[in-house]
Amino acid sequence: MKLLKEKILKEGLVLNNDVLKVDSFINHQIDTALIRALAKEIAANFKADRILTIETSGLPIAFAVAEEMGNLPLTFAKKSESAITGTHTYITEVNSFTRCISSVVTVDKKYIQEGERVLIVDDFLAAGNASLGLVDLCKQAGAKVAGVAVAIEKGFQGGRKKLEGLGITVFSGANIKAFVDNKPVFQDEKLF
Ligand code: 5GP
Repeated sequence: MKLLKEKILKEGLVLNNDVLKVDSFINHQIDTALIRALAKEIAANFKADRILTIETSGLPIAFAVAEEMGNLPLTFAKKSESAITGTHTYITEVNSFTRCISSVVTVDKKYIQEGERVLIVDDFLAAGNASLGLVDLCKQAGAKVAGVAVAIEKGFQGGRKKLEGLGITVFSGANIKAFVDNKPVFQDEKLF
């Protein structure tokens, strides 16, 4: 998505050739026009009955996608301090890429239904842990994963491979194949 790539090049900040900070348009301040344009592209690529994301940064994008796909129900998985959550929740564990901690992640059983096609939406795809956790929650519910859609993919960190290995379709608005001298290089560009 041209607009998103331009925004990344203009305002993104790369830390240690590893993490991309996009606080000015996704992770702190939100560029609502850009997110709406991204949501349109995502909506055109998938059919789903529900949107599933994980708090917090996936929410604005997931909200826009849910609206764009005809006001689909939107569920966000919650990060919980405790693994003791009762029998009314699906539970999984997710390692955070940026914070290097593991969180227990839960969804109330009411908010993913058996047989639903669930589209997983997030801000980033890196190693795939967040998405795989959400896939696990869908599996526990007996729901089908319609796909994984993210704003920004860091293609060199392996997430897509793991998801595609499970037969899951992956969409990203911008796919970064490498950081070179702390500058993003996109999938369709030459490295040097
Ligand atoms: P994964 O679970 O695929 O390894 O990483 C995806 C999750 O980690 C996303 O939910 C996102 O919040 C966070 N994340 C991973 N890489 C980055 C990054 O480069 N920048 C930011 N801002 N978040 C990231």
